Amino acid sequence: MAKKKQNNAIICFVALGCPKNIVDSEKMLAEIAQAGFLIAAEPENADVVVINTCGFIAPAKDEALEAIKHAVHCKLNGAVKKVIVAGCLSERLGRQLFDQADGIDAVVGLGQRDNIARIIKKTILSKQPATFLAQSPHKISDDRDRLLIGPRHRAYLRISEGCNHKCSFCTIPAIRGSFRSKPEELVLAEAAELVSAGAIELNIIAQDTTHYGRDLKIKNGLCKLLQTLEQINRLKWIRLMYLCPAGIDEKLIETIATSEKIVHYLDIPIQHVNSKILRAMRRTDTKDQLQQLIEKLRSAIPDCLLRTTVIVGFPSETDRQFDELLDFIEWVEFDALGCFKFYPESGTGAAEMSAQVPEEVKQQRLDELMLTQQKIAFAKNKKRIGGKLTCLVDSVDDEGIGRGRFYGQAPDIDSICIIQNCSAKSGHFIDAKVVGTKDYDLLVRQMES
Ligand code: SF4
Repeated sequence: MAKKKQNNAIICFVALGCPKNIVDSEKMLAEIAQAGFLIAAEPENADVVVINTCGFIAPAKDEALEAIKHAVHCKLNGAVKKVIVAGCLSERLGRQLFDQADGIDAVVGLGQRDNIARIIKKTILSKQPATFLAQSPHKISDDRDRLLIGPRHRAYLRISEGCNHKCSFCTIPAIRGSFRSKPEELVLAEAAELVSAGAIELNIIAQDTTHYGRDLKIKNGLCKLLQTLEQINRLKWIRLMYLCPAGIDEKLIETIATSEKIVHYLDIPIQHVNSKILRAMRRTDTKDQLQQLIEKLRSAIPDCLLRTTVIVGFPSETDRQFDELLDFIEWVEFDALGCFKFYPESGTGAAEMSAQVPEEVKQQRLDELMLTQQKIAFAKNKKRIGGKLTCLVDSVDDEGIGRGRFYGQAPDIDSICIIQNCSAKSGHFIDAKVVGTKDYDLLVRQMES
């Protein structure tokens, strides 16, 4: 009787962070649903709130603390009984998280992800706050059997965990451990499962996808994996995210160029281009190498669209070094770009460096860089007006306005296509004509088939 009452508890799950964390959230959601718990969208309607946090830079931590504060507020109002915090921030701070936010009932580390249902039951019965941190949190997880947060026709396929690069600004290796490839048979089984559940787009993710297989001593591991994934019949789009520039070689470029399914969109975080800054970041690339890579990609794959991520205000970055980055951005004309201000995260080498850049200078540089990118993106969008695209429809509202993406738009992070008069259902491809732009988005009209 008591057991039935526990499993009747209503859980609100708050999924924060990057696609890698989304995969963990989807896995936890499946565990929660399989254990017989009900799931609510809002904390106000739940007995237990589980927050899967990100914690790699200050804004992510602030977002997590805000979500915790809101859940605790609901608890004080009597709606919520327990607040459970999981994910990267829990792994990073462990027990210290109790000091950073009042009212948390359980802190759950990454290695306890698959025990979340059991932890919820325990926490409901417990009167004391508790931590659930695994002895060895850095195993390779089985991500099959997930409850997808987004539409079923697209999914993330995580092919590895952790990172070996040790960039001086990054907390990820400390949080998620060193690089471990997921065994190929597990990746393929997961891909097959996602496709048979309706996925036609798989977005390949890792901390560095180019590194796939190296720890398993597999030569050209990513290329081999991609060639096998391509054989999956109903799969239409394979998208590569998080490609470290230094890992992109001729073989990978050729694999992408000749593939019928790997979309010609590459996400290549460069972080900076000034050689001194790159060295201080402990990145192995040089500006010349980055430049040559872009030229090589554009010559081998002429319709290749590029996304990158950069950091401004890294310690000792001068105006001149920032201008060098800005010039490079203007030269490449990336199709999409994410820019972060440098955050001195505790435990990283860069946090200890002298010559930290003042906050207002970082903000100025961020604003200037994003304005430059905006001009590039808007001009590129304008050039598309009158052209035709193939769009994957993600959703359609009651008025027939669809939201979709062409191959140059990754889910969740990029702009979208707003589809007027959309008669296709979500998960279908349509031919569309670009008729205008709305900020970063494209306005398109479905063409008669
Ligand atoms: S490549 Fe560098 S920035 Fe990316 S996760 Fe690894 S250490 Fe962090």
